This record gives sequence, structure tokens and C-alpha cells, in this order.
Amino acid sequence: MNALRVTGGRVLRPDGRVTESDVTIDRDAGTIAAVGDETVSGERADDADADLPSTADETLDADGGLVIPGLVNAHTHVAMTLLRGYADDKPLDPWLREDIWPAEAELTPNDIEAGAELGVLEMIRSGTTAFADMYFAMDRVADVVDRAGVRARLGHGVVTVGKDDADARADVEESLAVAKELDGAADGRIRTAFMPHSLTTVGEAFLREGVAEAREADIPIHLHANETTDEVDPIVDERGERPIAYAEELGALGADDFFAHGVHLDGSEIDRLADAGTAVVHCPASNMKLASGMAPVQRLRDAGVTVALGTDGAASNNDLDVFDEMRDAAMLGKLAADDASAVPAAAVVEMATAGGADALGLPGGRIEPGAAADLAVVDLDAPHLTPVHDPVSHLAYAARGSDVRHTVCDGEVLMRDREVLTLDADAVRERAAAAANDLVDRVGE
Ligand SMILES: [Zn+2]
Repeated sequence: MNALRVTGGRVLRPDGRVTESDVTIDRDAGTIAAVGDETVSGERADDADADLPSTADETLDADGGLVIPGLVNAHTHVAMTLLRGYADDKPLDPWLREDIWPAEAELTPNDIEAGAELGVLEMIRSGTTAFADMYFAMDRVADVVDRAGVRARLGHGVVTVGKDDADARADVEESLAVAKELDGAADGRIRTAFMPHSLTTVGEAFLREGVAEAREADIPIHLHANETTDEVDPIVDERGERPIAYAEELGALGADDFFAHGVHLDGSEIDRLADAGTAVVHCPASNMKLASGMAPVQRLRDAGVTVALGTDGAASNNDLDVFDEMRDAAMLGKLAADDASAVPAAAVVEMATAGGADALGLPGGRIEPGAAADLAVVDLDAPHLTPVHDPVSHLAYAARGSDVRHTVCDGEVLMRDREVLTLDADAVRERAAAAANDLVDRVGE
């Protein structure tokens, strides 16, 4: 075994326990071989049968740190890092129409690659090892994912409103083609989905066609659902049914599907999501910034819906730090439920790890023998994390992305002692800043 050993730290286990354990990683397999003396076969490492090397080929020092599953950013538009801080303080609809869509119309594949590099760099530096991305030029995003060493579920976002029939159909076809072509790329670290932007920005006939073809090809579906009342009301007015009922009728409510936002859901929709096994990706910072509303996170969890966390694009957040998202989700979840015991620390940590991996259908999210070796080491030796009464509380309420010391995905070290090894951080920042400035100049012309 080519072994990587994470030594001297405390480890957050799937059941919420924190143990002082070394984590042994089989780099060839990309999996966790042992946590402490627990191995895949359930044997103790010091038994003669256990196949664990006594020395590691590489070690990562986790002394004073907490080893956690790599965080999962289950909904973003990663290249929107180029539009970080470009237009703020507006509601969703005018913000999209007046600022974001005109800028996106000028984006080139090179811009998208530059923005994706910047976003992935930011995510690795804040302990995120997997993300879901809905955008354009996805071959370029896939190339970045491949080089950077992270995992992703990628899809081309479809919008048909305002397009003629041929253009609209071409957009649907591109999303399906991208999903088929890129699935399994980057040694299997890339999976895909059919990604209609939402139930209001894609026409019914195109939704029906696209969903049917995705189902036939066993491709999951990701879309924005019930984000604002502006998006829910037209569906109710025109169809006499709620959006989630419409999604179900379209065949778009499956166990492998995951919907972003889920802010304005009624009880019947929560029941439908739970019955179907469709996951919801909660994006608290985006929902607050765009004043979209408060998602019923505790009610979703009580109903048994898998809830993940997403940053949404950097233009509505304005960063891609899932630690911020955990804190925001806990805080907003309490306000939404009018109950300080709602959405506790352990819940948001689960949403950012196992919940995210489950929502995206990607490996990872748990530190246990046999699981994918996707993890981060959070430095607890910091004033804002002292004392450590409860490490899980710190993850939810006090830690930041900049506290992450090492990041590992698929058994490979992506960041060691805060130095990202798979991307040239300075070059990525310079390229993205230049691309963003050029883009804004073109939009202004
Ligand atoms: Zn979004």
C-alpha cells in the first residue's frame, strides 16, 4: 500500500464522536484504510491479519488539529468568482436582468476557466473537496477540476426563456450532451447532471423533453427550486399547483436529484421531497443577501429530506467558504423556526459533509475505514478557537476557512500547511483578476 498517514490529530467520526486517532490512507485506492486501529475489515491494526504498513510513505501533521471530512459545496456557479462584488444589494430578478446576465453574455470559455480556477483554489484553501456546478463551458470547468484534484458534479445550465425554439432546443441538447460526455472524467472524480436553471426559466415542453432523456440515460437532475415568491407564484397562478408538484409531474423528482434553495416550500412539498428522496441544497448566505427568504431547514430535516449546503455563486455570497455557510445555516435556521434549538451545530456539520456527499451522490463526507479519502485538517490552535469545549461547536460557529491547515481529496494532498500544491495560487489570482477587469470593460462598452 502507498500510505499517507494523518498523524496526531483528533478525528470527527460519522457518529459525531471525536477521537484521538491517526488516519491511514491508501493513496492508490483513494480510500481511508484505517482510523486509529479500526480497519475496513473491522480488524485491529495491531492484529497479525491487518494489512496496514507500520510506516507511511507520506505523513501530514495534524497535531493540535481536528480532522474532518472534506466539506461539500453542493450548489455553486464557480466561475462567478469573476463577478464577486460586481453588483450587490439588489433583489434577485433585477440583479439577474440588469447586472448578472449582461455580464455573463460577455463571458468567454477562457474567462470561465480563469474564474473556475480561482473558485476551486478558494475552496481547497477552505477545506472543500467536492462541489456541484451549474454553468457554461463545462469542459473548461472539468479541466480545472481534473488539474486541481477535487471532485465535482457538473452540468450545463439551461435557460430557454427569451430564446427562439432552435436556440432553446440547442441549449437543452448541450446540457444533455455535456452530462453524457463528462461523466466519469478525471479518473471518476467528475460526475454530471442535467441542469435546467429553474422551473420558470425553462419552458414546459423543453423540461419534459430534457427530463425524459435524462431519465433514459440515468442522469440526475439539478435545478433551482422555490427560491423566491416571484418564482413560485407564476407556477401556482398558471398551473394551479405548487412547483414541487409540477416537478414531480415532469418526472424531475427522483432519488438522485437535488434542488437548490427550497426556500418557499409548503408542507405538501416537503412531504413530496421526502417521499421522493430528492435532496435540497440550502444556500443561506445567498438567500439572505438577495432577501429571498428563510428555508424551512429544521422542518425538512424532521421530514427526512437530505439537506446539503451550498454557497451559490460568489456574486451572491460573496465567498465560497462552507464554514460561513454552516454558521449562516445554523443562525438562519433558528430564526426561521423561531427556536434557538433548531438546526444545531451537529446538524450543519452533517449538512456540510455527509449530507452534501449524499445529495450529490459523490463519495466522501465521512471519516471511516473504506470511505473515500477526502478530508481537511482544521487548526484548533487559534485564539478564536480556544478553549475547545466542543470541537463540533467550533466547526459550526467559530472556525473559518482560513483555519484549514491541510486538504486531501481522493487520497492526494491538495494543500499542505496552507500551500496549495495542485494550482499556482499567485498565477490563478492574477489571471482571474485580469479576466474580470477585461470582462467588466467589455460590458461597459
Ligand atoms: Zn444558483
